[in-house]
Amino acid sequence: MTENLRVAVIGGGIGGLTAALALRARGLDVTIFEQAGELREIGAGVSIFPNATRLLQRIGLTDEIEKIGSPITGQVIRTSGGELINQSASPSTGVQSYNVHRADFLKLLANAQPEGTLHLGHRLSGAREADGGVRLTFSNGAAVISDVVIGADGIHSALQQAIGLKTYPSSEGIMAYRGLIPTEKLSWAKDIGGRMSRWIGKGRSFLCYPVSSGRLMNMVAFVPTNLDSEESWTAPGDLNALSAEYAGWDYPVLETIGALDSTFRWGIYDRAPLPYWSVGRMTLLGDAAHPMVPHLGQGAAQAIEDGFTLAVVLEGIKRQDVSKRLQAYERARLQRTSQIQALARDTGRFFRAEYEDVAERDRFMAKWMSANGQIRGHDAEQAAKEELLAANDSGSI
Ligand SMILES: Cc1cc2nc3c(=O)[nH]c(=O)nc-3n(C[C@H](O)[C@H](O)[C@H](O)COP(=O)(O)OP(=O)(O)OC[C@H]3O[C@@H](n4cnc5c(N)ncnc54)[C@H](O)[C@@H]3O)c2cc1C
Repeated sequence: MTENLRVAVIGGGIGGLTAALALRARGLDVTIFEQAGELREIGAGVSIFPNATRLLQRIGLTDEIEKIGSPITGQVIRTSGGELINQSASPSTGVQSYNVHRADFLKLLANAQPEGTLHLGHRLSGAREADGGVRLTFSNGAAVISDVVIGADGIHSALQQAIGLKTYPSSEGIMAYRGLIPTEKLSWAKDIGGRMSRWIGKGRSFLCYPVSSGRLMNMVAFVPTNLDSEESWTAPGDLNALSAEYAGWDYPVLETIGALDSTFRWGIYDRAPLPYWSVGRMTLLGDAAHPMVPHLGQGAAQAIEDGFTLAVVLEGIKRQDVSKRLQAYERARLQRTSQIQALARDTGRFFRAEYEDVAERDRFMAKWMSANGQIRGHDAEQAAKEELLAANDSGSI
């Protein structure tokens, strides 16, 4: 007979909420503990590429995502002066990808949780193995015992510390200005449809894509900085300073900046891959395990892949097998996410360079598109099942 494992997910961000849905779909008893008193997201977009949408579809979210999302139909990449470098349709994976407004997406995920399973105002303060489970304590005085604990608590993860890791932020020397503009205000966007538009130039790049069913254009402007900012901090940005960064760039860039009512600055950091994610019955996912710079748009998608992998490895198991199964989860995920972290950095460098040798630029572009295609074609549930088969064959589970 299978036991009903109690799973505690720490953190109610994109990673934690999707993990909870995926785990519950495989029969696990999941509770989410979120530090914030209410779920909040910033005004920005996030991409859900096919490697994530294919998983979300399997738990019945297709229609809901279609309602809030802007389908991604392809990309256009230009130089800072507007010369076309690449224009291509999204490769056919048989699965649609979407750009969504972060707040819409988080609301959708929160609304999909059964009543009483999401506990707000619970900031994890301690976690230790005890009484055949893990004893979790929260700064509001609450305490619970769980069979499995998943730290989906972001880049400053408390659970990461509880499992003995100490990590350091690493900066690319850039920051981003972000903002949302009603698409109707942008003459250049009339015929853009669902394409992601990017301009690349010396030291900086500029990205626009529609969200909220095409009503809003999400803008992300990556610029150099020597500002010693907090990781993941956001602060109001100065529109004149943003404008000065892109003086002389292609017309759509200037029109977009000119149409902004406000902007905010976002500190961008990642961290070196961790040596391990799991100790005993505790593990990490999403930004707590593998924060990445945003140039591949895979941060959210990788967190989603983690949650679905955990659901496959934990389905129908006995309490005494949790630790081995978490090791299998780590094997299925650590190498892939480390490679994606590294590719995200390389991609950022590529987008912030001006190439005199066009052949070199095009070589990188071809390599990048092929790697990106592979990332987006991945099926995390299938990979998890293969990992379990291999572990079974080798006797490690
Ligand atoms: C401003 C911004 C813009 C981004 N834009 C992009 C983008 O365009 N493309 C992209 O790929 N990625 C982007 N990312 C990154 C992407 O959103 C993340 O990689 C992804 O959402 C995974 O998030 P997560 O759930 O692992 O962590 P988070 O979203 O950070 O969620 C962690 C949650 O844990 C909670 N928490 C923290 N500590 C505790 C505690 N001690 N106890 C309880 N709860 C706790 C937090 O309140 C939060 O709700 C962006 C991130 C930010 C902040």
